[in-house]
Amino acid sequence: MVGMTQPGLPAGRTAPAPREPGDSRFDGDPTAASIFLTVLTRGPIPRNEIAQHLSLSPATVSKAVRPMLAAGYLVESLTGTVDSRPGRPVVPLRVAAEREFVLGVKLAGDHIVGVAVDLLANVRATREARLDSHAVDDVIEALAELAARLRADVGGQVSRVGIGVGGHVDTATGLVRYAPFLEWRDVRLAERLAARIGLPVVVENDVNSLTVAEQWFGAGIGVPSLAVVTIGAGVGCGLVVDGSLVHGAHGLAGELGHVPIQLDGPECRCGNSGCVETLAADGAILDRVRAATNDSELTLAAAVELARDGHHDAIAAFTIAGEALGRALAIVANLLNPHRIVLSGEGLAASDLFESVAREAFRRHAFGQAVECELVTRPLPDHTWARGAAAVAIQHLFLGPITGVPMR
Ligand SMILES: [Zn+2]
Repeated sequence: MVGMTQPGLPAGRTAPAPREPGDSRFDGDPTAASIFLTVLTRGPIPRNEIAQHLSLSPATVSKAVRPMLAAGYLVESLTGTVDSRPGRPVVPLRVAAEREFVLGVKLAGDHIVGVAVDLLANVRATREARLDSHAVDDVIEALAELAARLRADVGGQVSRVGIGVGGHVDTATGLVRYAPFLEWRDVRLAERLAARIGLPVVVENDVNSLTVAEQWFGAGIGVPSLAVVTIGAGVGCGLVVDGSLVHGAHGLAGELGHVPIQLDGPECRCGNSGCVETLAADGAILDRVRAATNDSELTLAAAVELARDGHHDAIAAFTIAGEALGRALAIVANLLNPHRIVLSGEGLAASDLFESVAREAFRRHAFGQAVECELVTRPLPDHTWARGAAAVAIQHLFLGPITGVPMR
């Protein structure tokens, strides 16, 4: 366990060379990272099962977990003691969730939502604040205040902050290249916030953040390849391939909303036409119902009600959205052949109006065995986006600024 503070290290034992406080715990030691990740996602788990799972020798596992136990990141789970063979008690290991905490914040256009979570991503405290200004200094001040409150709420050691932003983010440098809801371009958010609050900060696209939360703490556990598709104001997609989050060459991987699926389709806000979003996003659905009812003031909630009441044109708008969504999911399945696709986002609140259409379209367009990809719907509980940002901070804490250690 490289570079970790080791309060329990016996006197006289050689400690690893000290590193910067922002260093990740296993950066450069993939075996240790894989072992810790196995306990994190599958614990409580005995050493011999870890060894079996990772095809390592029991001695290697025992040696690797010793400093993790000494540093308080792992504990022996006394309640889970089992006997594998008579006279050979096996003590499972689990992550000491309260060893330290991280913060996660979703940065939206008009407000920020923050959570403090333990190392198993359990939410311990939540806070919200209004954003009255998009000026970078003002937003950083609001984030710093929110972080200070969350640190006070949780009490213990807080070691990272994750920020989820809708838009184009360069996670490796913490640069927000473009955030449409904030009207930001090229803002060095991680660097500036870290300097203000004195904690390492990691910035990630919000859909990718949600994907990391699913990968380590949700529907992605034990699944090497996973896609998370979100629907609502836009259509987003986060991708995990062979255990690693995919960013692409420019941090733009997963722009499913702007995959063109209809020739001569409606114009998109991106400047093109026929994109998935022009058919499946909330705005597209609303535009259709407004046009059909000749009511330019109609709200999305009212459009949903009309459809549920049997209004033909309102139903048709959701059917078109469902068809487009199903095709988009089939594109993901045909390109990447993931084990599972998780469908989430605010748009799921009206899933009764489009989910069966989407599933049927998916079945029709998925190629060969790609159709066997499991489609899971996961409605968003409160603070899910902020928890996603916290999950990124946990991943960063243990793995550093890399895309991931393949999870097995
Ligand atoms: Zn577009």
